Amino acid sequence: MLDCSKESTKSGLVVQVLSCETHRGLYLTHCLTQVSSGSTVDAGSNVKGGGDEAGLSQGDEMYVFFTRSTGDKLGLAKGMVISINTPWQKLSIPDVSKPVVLCTYLCRTLNLDPYDVVQGQPVLPECSTEGSKSPKVLNPVRLFPAAYRSHSPGAEVVTAQENKIKNISASIMHGVTETALARVQRIVTRRQQTVVPHQSAKMTSGRSSLLTQASPSLIKSLLLQDREGVVCEVQLTNQMAESSTWQHVLQSGEGRSYIFMKLKVTQRLTLSRAPGLLSMIRSLQHRPNQMNGQTICYVLTGEVGVTAVESLDQSESMNVPPPRPPPVMELSDVVKNTHTPTRRTSFLATPILLSPSSPPDNVTPSSSSGPKDTPNTYGSWFLFLSTSTSQHHQPSTTSQEGITSPRHGSDQDGYVCLYVHQSNVLGQDVLTRCRSSGNRRILCRDVLVASTEEEGVYLNADGFSHISVEDESEEESALNFTSLSVLKVGTRLHSLVSVTGNICGVEEESAFSWPACPHCGNNHLDGGEGSGFVLHCSVCNEDINTPVMRMHLIVQLSCPALPPTHSVKVQLLQSTIESVLPCPSSQTSGGHDLQSTLGVLVGPINCLVRTVHETPKGKMFLLEEVLLCN
Ligand SMILES: [Zn+2]
Repeated sequence: MLDCSKESTKSGLVVQVLSCETHRGLYLTHCLTQVSSGSTVDAGSNVKGGGDEAGLSQGDEMYVFFTRSTGDKLGLAKGMVISINTPWQKLSIPDVSKPVVLCTYLCRTLNLDPYDVVQGQPVLPECSTEGSKSPKVLNPVRLFPAAYRSHSPGAEVVTAQENKIKNISASIMHGVTETALARVQRIVTRRQQTVVPHQSAKMTSGRSSLLTQASPSLIKSLLLQDREGVVCEVQLTNQMAESSTWQHVLQSGEGRSYIFMKLKVTQRLTLSRAPGLLSMIRSLQHRPNQMNGQTICYVLTGEVGVTAVESLDQSESMNVPPPRPPPVMELSDVVKNTHTPTRRTSFLATPILLSPSSPPDNVTPSSSSGPKDTPNTYGSWFLFLSTSTSQHHQPSTTSQEGITSPRHGSDQDGYVCLYVHQSNVLGQDVLTRCRSSGNRRILCRDVLVASTEEEGVYLNADGFSHISVEDESEEESALNFTSLSVLKVGTRLHSLVSVTGNICGVEEESAFSWPACPHCGNNHLDGGEGSGFVLHCSVCNEDINTPVMRMHLIVQLSCPALPPTHSVKVQLLQSTIESVLPCPSSQTSGGHDLQSTLGVLVGPINCLVRTVHETPKGKMFLLEEVLLCN
């Protein structure tokens, strides 16, 4: 898997991480030298570093320090093989048996899936996360034991907590009803239905019937990893989530360790029946493709006044697993590197379009309640993301070895579609960011990525994924997204296309106009229409004298780019309707002469392909005109 001889010509040092702890903003690792080469040190360089001066050879052990940001970027974990480029520095400290390597700023991981290497390297301590076998509790490897005790101002606290946790089992499940010790690896807010959309976004068709159900309640939960590496979920009751203690954990507890007291088991989940949770646990255990690890997950909860939680300040001395923040990539790199089955990935991306996955409700004369309002954040979404890299973006330095070249077709158009499942809680700020101009980068965490030869890359955000606005004010994301490809016979469902054509028909029965509130956009105004009263908006609590007129219009287009046996219907946006209708000032009086719209040229407009029907004569495309982010 690793081509070490090739690596040695490029970098000074290749190490394998045997253990990893965090301490005071640093990652302290105990490493094994895999390759050390002196040939990379510049003759004129006065930097002390490189193999020959360092005197490190293959098989030597050492301590390597990484800054928090470097470690986070690497997703530093036991089993990783890391190439450290010069200039790094080596120190020999009296009373410390092994050399210490510092200034490891230029480094990268060589094995993207560290567990693969753990499997292939029997010299490593056995991975302690096996669920079925009797797990071995690792002895903590303390760096500088003497110095640690004398220099730490919190030493007394540690001693007190150490006394307290002396009898806590390493497995949270053994001590759950009394006292348990674990690290909060993820804080998740999701909706009740947790069915993972494992099929592609492109395969989900039609509207989701669940969308019409009442909004389900939110679950706030913590994914805990105990000292054996086993993950369990603690679901907080509403009462717990509102208490100040737990609010503190929910706000800033991710990556921290706690002592939990008096939790109770509510559920025992078989992970094969909870694929979303399974993949989340695999990614926390750095074993995305391992199927024989943890097979069940306990769901715990607590009770206000009974369950207690206490922060554990010096968790590194307690052998708690290191924090595993998701390593964040660029979407363009994610798309290139999908060489494995479904796994969780985190990336930064620029949105092109956020659209409900169900088409907007058609307006029919029988619908007395009138047209539907713009949907809230509940429901499932298509989030189209740009895969083109901006000019400012540096070429990725991530290792490309062992990764097949891109073979999928999805990003040929410069975008991929992220299917946001309705269990995912999409924030209002994400909607706003997707519709704003300027810096529109968003961070997609723990998204499920899979790919197939035929269909390309699938991205799914479920309840364990998190999409948030990325604050990146110094860099304007220059979107190279220029134009969409033209609608063709072979255009797939749920793609974005550019359409030009002449109107050859109008769906008269669904052509509507209605008054809306100019302030809040409320489509359901009271009064009017012969009731003798002026229009009133109950949201703004104001009388509306000059409402905005909203229109719904579906037209049939004859597109020169398509053979005439295929038909194209487009639901137009308000601005296009206004440009198509002859006299926009007179809607309220007598309506329009729809015949006068026939032959009018529409486009090019950007559309989302909502449905594709195959008939013996040809295909029927139903499109929705969309407004892309600019
Ligand atoms: Zn209003």
